[in-house]
Amino acid sequence: MIEAINPATLEVNAEIEETPVEDVGTVFETARGAQREWAALGTAARAKHLIRVKEHILDRIDDIAETITIDNGKTLLESVNSEIYPVLDMLTFCAREAPGYLKKESLKNPIFPIARIESSNIFEPLGVIGIISPWNFPFAIPMTQIAMALITGNAVVLKPAELTALTGELIGGIFKDSGLHDGVVTVVQGEGAVIGGAMMDARPDRVVFTGSVPVGKHLMKRAAETLIPITLELGGKDPFIVLKDADVERASSAAVWGAFINAGQVCASVERVYVHRSIADEFIAKVVGKTKKIRVGNGLDHKVDMGPMISMKRIEAVEQHVTDAVAKGAEVAAGGKRIGSMPGYFFEPTVLTGVDHTMDCMSEETFGPTLPIMVFSDVDEAVALANDSRYGLTVAVWSRDTAKAEKVCRRIETGTVVVNNCLLTYGFSQCPWGGVKDSGIGRTHSVHGLYEFTNIKNITISKSLLREDLWWHPYSEAKYRGMKAVIKTLFCEGVVCKGEGIVDILKSFKLPGRK
Ligand code: NAD
Repeated sequence: MIEAINPATLEVNAEIEETPVEDVGTVFETARGAQREWAALGTAARAKHLIRVKEHILDRIDDIAETITIDNGKTLLESVNSEIYPVLDMLTFCAREAPGYLKKESLKNPIFPIARIESSNIFEPLGVIGIISPWNFPFAIPMTQIAMALITGNAVVLKPAELTALTGELIGGIFKDSGLHDGVVTVVQGEGAVIGGAMMDARPDRVVFTGSVPVGKHLMKRAAETLIPITLELGGKDPFIVLKDADVERASSAAVWGAFINAGQVCASVERVYVHRSIADEFIAKVVGKTKKIRVGNGLDHKVDMGPMISMKRIEAVEQHVTDAVAKGAEVAAGGKRIGSMPGYFFEPTVLTGVDHTMDCMSEETFGPTLPIMVFSDVDEAVALANDSRYGLTVAVWSRDTAKAEKVCRRIETGTVVVNNCLLTYGFSQCPWGGVKDSGIGRTHSVHGLYEFTNIKNITISKSLLREDLWWHPYSEAKYRGMKAVIKTLFCEGVVCKGEGIVDILKSFKLPGRK
C-alpha cells in the first residue's frame, strides 16, 4: 500500500493499493485490445468523449482542486489555475482543433502532376502510450498528455508519482466516470523503478516521461534496447532577465510569483534572476519586500500564498543550495530556513543576493522556494550567463521594448521564451512545450506534440499511363538524357534551360503498347 500523505499536515489522506508488478504486462495486453476499438471509433467520436471528460471536470472543480491540494500541497488557487485550467484548455484543443490536424494531408511536388502521382499523409495512432509522471503537477501533466494520446487514437497506461498517488486515483476515476471504455486509460500505481521498469518491459509504443534528468537518461537507455520512441520532459534552470528599461514594479511581482508558485517546485519556475546594474537596487528591494509578504501555510486556506514542499528530502535539497551559496559568499535577503512551527514540509520563501555561477543555486535545479539574484552590466553578459547552463526549458525577458527583448530571446538556448511574463505558456495548448539540452527531447502540447503520438504514414499512389517509369530497368543512354532533361526542367531556375531537352524527355518515354 502507498500512504498518500498531506504535505501540509503530514496526515494520511488515503492508502492506495500498489499494482502487483506481475500484473503490468496484462494491463498492457488489455490496453492493446481496448486501443483497437478506441481507434476504430474515429476522431469525431473520440472528440465527443473528450468533451464529456471536460464537462465532468467542470462539474467537479472544487473537489478536484481540493484533492490536488491535499495531495501535492499547492494552494487551491494554484490547483485551479495551474492544474485544472491547462487540462480544460487541452481537452478543448484536442476535441475542437486536433481533428483538423489529423485529417489526411495532401502533398504537393513539381513532379507529381507530370508523373501522375498522388501523395498524402495520414496520422495513425501508435498503440499504447506509457506515461510516467512527476508529483509537482500530478493532474495537469498526465491529463494533458492523456488527452493528446486519446484524440490521436491511442490507449494509455499511466504511472503517477508515488508521492501523489491520490491524484493518480482521481485521474483513473475521472475517465471511468465519464464513460470511457475499460482499458483505454489505466492507472498503475507503485515505485518508479519497479512499476516504471515493468512498463518498459511491456514495450509501450511510445513512452512520455516527465521527471528528473537521471531517470530520463536511464529510461532513454532502456528505450534504446527495443527502440521504443521516447519523449523526455526534464528539469529546468530557468533564467529571468530584467533589462534596464523593464517595468520594475511588474517584473518584481512576476519574479516573486514565478519563483514561489507551488513552493518553487516547477520545472519552469523562476530559478535564477539576472538584473541590470542600473535598476538592481530598486528591483531587489521590491522583490525582498514582496517576498516577505508571502503567507505560507496550508493550501486549503484561501489566505495562504505558498503551500508546503512535497517532502523532507526536497527541503534538505533546498537547504543544501542555501548553505552552499552562503558558504561561497551569498547573502540571504529574505527567508533561508525551514519553518518548524507547522507540522508539514514548510520552507521560507528565500531571496539570495550576491550569487554567482560557482554556486549550486545558480547551476543546479533547486526546485524549491529560492530566488537567487545576480547583477549584470550589459546584454551580452546577460545572454552569456543565461546560456551558461546545461538546461534549456523556458526563459523570461523583461523590457519595455518588446522588439529588443525578442532579439535577446532569439539568442538564448531554450525551448520557450516569454517576454514580460513568466510560466505562462503551459496553459495554452497551441504553444509547444519542451526543452533543449538536458531539459529534454521532443515536444508535448500543440500540433507538434500531437504528431508525436502518431505514426505519420505516407501513402503515395502512382497513376502513370506509361509502361515503365523513366528510372526503371532497362537503363539506356536515352533514359539518362531524359532523366537529365527532367532534372533541368524541374530544378533549373532559368527559362532557357527549362525548355532544353524536352525532346529528349519525350523520346525516352515509352507509351503503353509502343516499342
Ligand atoms: P523523478 O524522475 O524522480 O520521477 C518521475 C517519475 O518517474 C515518477 O513517477 C517516478 O516514480 C518515476 N520513476 C523513477 N525512477 C524510475 C525508473 N527507474 N523507471 C521508471 N520510472 C521511474 O522526478 P520527480 O522528482 O517526480 O520530478 C521532478 C523533476 O521533474 C524535476 O527535475 C522537474 O524539473 C521535472 N519536471 C519537468 C517538467 C517538464 O515539463 N519539463 C515538468 C514537471 C517536472
